[in-house]
Amino acid sequence: MKLLSEIIAGLTNNLRSGSLFPTMTTVTFWPESRTCPQCGVWMKVLNTTTKPAATLAIGQFLAREYHYYCPRCGFVVGSEELRGLVPERCNIGYGVLAYVGKEFFLNSRDNEQIVMNLREKNVIVCRSEISYLAKKFIVCLALLHKKVQKETRAFLSMNGGYILHLDGTCEGESPHLISVLDGITEIVLDNTKVPSENADDLIPFLQ
Ligand SMILES: [Zn+2]
Repeated sequence: MKLLSEIIAGLTNNLRSGSLFPTMTTVTFWPESRTCPQCGVWMKVLNTTTKPAATLAIGQFLAREYHYYCPRCGFVVGSEELRGLVPERCNIGYGVLAYVGKEFFLNSRDNEQIVMNLREKNVIVCRSEISYLAKKFIVCLALLHKKVQKETRAFLSMNGGYILHLDGTCEGESPHLISVLDGITEIVLDNTKVPSENADDLIPFLQ
């Protein structure tokens, strides 16, 4: 019984993503469909590419991706699943990016702490890369915010509209950072930098 519980404890310890693949493993991704979405023809294998990748669930791994091509129209397709995990031409997955952003901006962790926490998840990044990823997170968040503007508007109108809260902050002579959020859902709707909090500077932003 003692031996059994030791084995179970060992297995539980090994469930951490950091222990899932102690050596770099290769995960293969195929396109989701074998038929061409443009003309319905059976596609052929064009090539495979391999790149290092890192996600929170797996840790570091090699992502091998199959690409198919359509012999009739030349359409080329890769794996949507891989694209959903790791951005094209990048190695760090979206999940890691979001983790770094939250740890950095919401939980005020410094680069060193984030590097150590990621190492436990078998994701190896250097301290300077954390600063880069935190900036990239903000850019991605801003782009996503813009992309779902219509959906956000529809969601707010379902709630019967919004209560606009507006506030600004500045340091010395720096521009004023103005943020507006909906008081009901607490969703930040937009923000901007303006020279002052005067009506002339604020009205164009609110319009
Ligand atoms: Zn085709």
